[in-house]
Amino acid sequence: MTVAETDDFGPSTQSVHAGRNRRQPHHALTTPLVQTATYTFDDTADLIDFMRSKVWGDGVHREEYGRYGNPTVRAVETRLAALEGADEALLFASGMAAVTATLLSILPTGSHIILTDDCYRRTRQFALTFLKRLGIESTLVPMGDYQAMETAIQSNTRMIVSESPTNPYLRVLDLPRLVEIAKAHRVRTLVDATFATPVNVRPLKYGVDLVVHSATKYLGGHNDLLAGVVAGRNGLVSALRESQGVMGGVIDSQAAWLLERGLKTVGLRVARQNENALALARFLDDHPRVRRTWYPGLDSHPDHDVATEQMKGYGGVVSFEIDGTLEDTSRFIDALRIPTIAPSLGGVESLVEQPALMSYFDLTTEERAAIGISDTLVRYAVGIEDTPDLLEDLGQALTVL
Ligand SMILES: *Cc1c(COP(=O)(O)O)cnc(C)c1O
Repeated sequence: MTVAETDDFGPSTQSVHAGRNRRQPHHALTTPLVQTATYTFDDTADLIDFMRSKVWGDGVHREEYGRYGNPTVRAVETRLAALEGADEALLFASGMAAVTATLLSILPTGSHIILTDDCYRRTRQFALTFLKRLGIESTLVPMGDYQAMETAIQSNTRMIVSESPTNPYLRVLDLPRLVEIAKAHRVRTLVDATFATPVNVRPLKYGVDLVVHSATKYLGGHNDLLAGVVAGRNGLVSALRESQGVMGGVIDSQAAWLLERGLKTVGLRVARQNENALALARFLDDHPRVRRTWYPGLDSHPDHDVATEQMKGYGGVVSFEIDGTLEDTSRFIDALRIPTIAPSLGGVESLVEQPALMSYFDLTTEERAAIGISDTLVRYAVGIEDTPDLLEDLGQALTVL
């Protein structure tokens, strides 16, 4: 065990220290970036020694080939496992690689999964097209309807796949309830906790089997890398590691190194993002040109009580509907001076988007309405800027309406 891998430490201590070897090559303080595709053996005896034990004399894992492991990547995985309270974590080249490889590895042909509806669009698309082609059926249940979730369980149901908080309505899962239903029917649970981060909630503590993140977002935190992670119990994650060696969606060591660099400040960043988002949500909720604001920190949010019970902070994303038209909403967005128009979230920079013109551009107004995406919906993903600046900017942009 290296520094801070135990539960006795808080997330900021873990995010700086867990997985860092006390003695690094050259006594470097930071985790070395090991940029190599393969690893060497001194002679045949050394090779045979490796094949027998796979560890160095001091117990450190010895690597063989880049697709099976990398010391930089392993150090970051150890840190992420500590942050999630997991036995093991496994990194992937992107969040979607983590989600798709996990589902493909675990689900047998002829099985069935349950998905909550307000979940990441590409995850839904993967289940409804790719998994379906492999004979794996999915049932979508409304987020927050636990009765529907339980009713949807069939004899071949293997997994409940959910997300918390969701995008764009920030619905929050009642984790004890989810786990209770799943355990009663011997079904596994997977929660995409990208929007929560381990700083705000650790789903594994509630008995969830696997937690996944797009580490591209808050964990990396600087909008400069793509990465995904899955964390959970030892047996489950090591089986996924075996399949990753076959399927190959590994993270590059450079991206892992950047992720480690970003992770050190995740506690500070997320605390500021929680504060910024709550301030913006309260401001928007009171504003006459805003029809409705969704933020779990507001009393009006359907999951306010669950979020208050389970989360340390309510997260960095606020969604709201402008009282006006699609064009009014775009005028408001163009008047904002601080956030930039871009997909994604979780980095230090505030980003803003009108989902009707971003993630759902290909649909008509009617099709969007059918899945609950209004033309005047805005998703604001706060960064770490100063709260008064963000509030003032928001106020001036709303005056164009
Ligand atoms: C971004 C995101 C993903 C996909 O992650 P990538 O790193 O972009 O592949 C999955 N789930 C959620 C909730 C996300 O926000």
